[in-house]
Amino acid sequence: MTLHQNLIAGEWVGADGVENINPSNTNEVVGVYARASADDAKNAIAAAKAAFPAWSRSGILERHAILKKTSDEILARKEELGNLLAREEGKTLPEAIGETIRAAQIFDFFAGEVLRLSGEVLPSVRPNIGVEITREPIGVVGIITPWNFPIAIPAWKIAPALAYGNTIVFKPAELVPACSWAIADILHRAGLPKGVLNLVMGKGSVVGQAMLDSPDLAAITFTGSTGTGKRVAAASIEHNRKFQLEMGGKNPMVVLDDADLTVAVEAAANSGFFSTGQRCTASSRLIVTEGIHDKFVAALTEKLKTLVVDDALKAGTHIGPVVDAGQLKQDTDYIAIGQSEGAKLAFGGETISRDNPGFFLQPTLFTEATNQMRISREEIFGPVVSVIRVKNYDEALSVANDTPFGLSAGIATTSLKHATHFKRNSEAGMVMVNLPTAGVDFHVPFGGRKASSFGPREQGKYASEFFTVVKTAYTLA
Ligand code: NDP
Repeated sequence: MTLHQNLIAGEWVGADGVENINPSNTNEVVGVYARASADDAKNAIAAAKAAFPAWSRSGILERHAILKKTSDEILARKEELGNLLAREEGKTLPEAIGETIRAAQIFDFFAGEVLRLSGEVLPSVRPNIGVEITREPIGVVGIITPWNFPIAIPAWKIAPALAYGNTIVFKPAELVPACSWAIADILHRAGLPKGVLNLVMGKGSVVGQAMLDSPDLAAITFTGSTGTGKRVAAASIEHNRKFQLEMGGKNPMVVLDDADLTVAVEAAANSGFFSTGQRCTASSRLIVTEGIHDKFVAALTEKLKTLVVDDALKAGTHIGPVVDAGQLKQDTDYIAIGQSEGAKLAFGGETISRDNPGFFLQPTLFTEATNQMRISREEIFGPVVSVIRVKNYDEALSVANDTPFGLSAGIATTSLKHATHFKRNSEAGMVMVNLPTAGVDFHVPFGGRKASSFGPREQGKYASEFFTVVKTAYTLA
């Protein structure tokens, strides 16, 4: 099989390869991808540093053209790249194609943002002095991404970093190098000057750690677990470096007595179980008032019976496999923990066999859970959801906010009063009314509070807050 190499200083390099395995069929090798060393990471950082002066002063039309060309190619290849994504990560083909289209839209959005760069000119409070406020690129940005959105998350970090004139050292999760390699290849062929984007595929403990330890990264943007995020934060403070963290969630969806049952069940099924529950914005706590509780659980259980778990590429599959053996063990361990804590296993809980060997798990629903149980407090990151029964809206809001996390929160209700109150009082970065907690737009801010996020928001024009630094200049007339 062809070895897909790392991209350092505009050259494809690396000899040591790792097999990328399809979680729907562990007999299938999706491709072989180079494993970078700590020295490769150092070389990549040096290349990005050398490329920064020219790229940070490059013309906006050049940057616009490269980002636009990248968007166009991703869109033109959406079926092929979606297929690759489904095979390396396990989300269904329609979900994978949707994510690929999203990546193209993000590159397109930031191609536009390059042409909208602006500053401010103000009078000084002192006579005969002018004040200019401008945004400048930060320098070399380290990008570290997780496995669950193999093309969209790299896109939403790489596109703004380049648009605002930064150079990049990019380390994708070792489990999903294929889509990241494809993005680097497309950008390279779109004419990105050498050293502006460097791809170093490999282990977090080696390549990621070498990035954290480098004094030459001006900023790191990270998406992943809260544990790794804390290491990024500690190392960044040590090096006086700007950092941005997007981490876990334990997202609540409140279902009130007056909810439209169909809307509530569709939203809960979608955000709890689609993409195999492996979304940071997944609803893993369904907080249901007692008047609708039994009806809601019965309807959701009926819905779960109709969901097909199978090979991500098969037509008709609703839920693909879990990403790998380690994540599957985490999911089944938590299912055992839920039972030992006294929650009732209302649906699923078993691993399943399909035509090919893969990591298939039934969608799993716990009822009679409390908010103090570990299954309600800790991120499982699989198709495992607990239902918590509450008396009324006030208790529902209090339980929804009683979590270390604060990424996304939802409410299903027909009451304008409760919807409005929930939007104002939810302690989450994103709030959804009668919609799944997962599923966001690309042109508006994305991010959370508490242990879910740190630093400026990602996406949309708000991305400039992280990827630029503000300068205030005074001139005597
Ligand atoms: P991890 O934290 O395990 O990994 C994230 C990235 O960090 C990977 O590229 C990993 O490398 C790298 N890494 C690991 N150790 C180090 C280290 N010592 N130094 C530097 N980098 C390191 O998270 P997962 O990949 O398991 O992703 C799942 C998590 O991501 C979930 O908690 C989920 O909620 C969160 N997430 C958050 C989102 C958000 O926007 N809030 C969106 C998507 C996911 P490698 O794995 O290759 O070894």
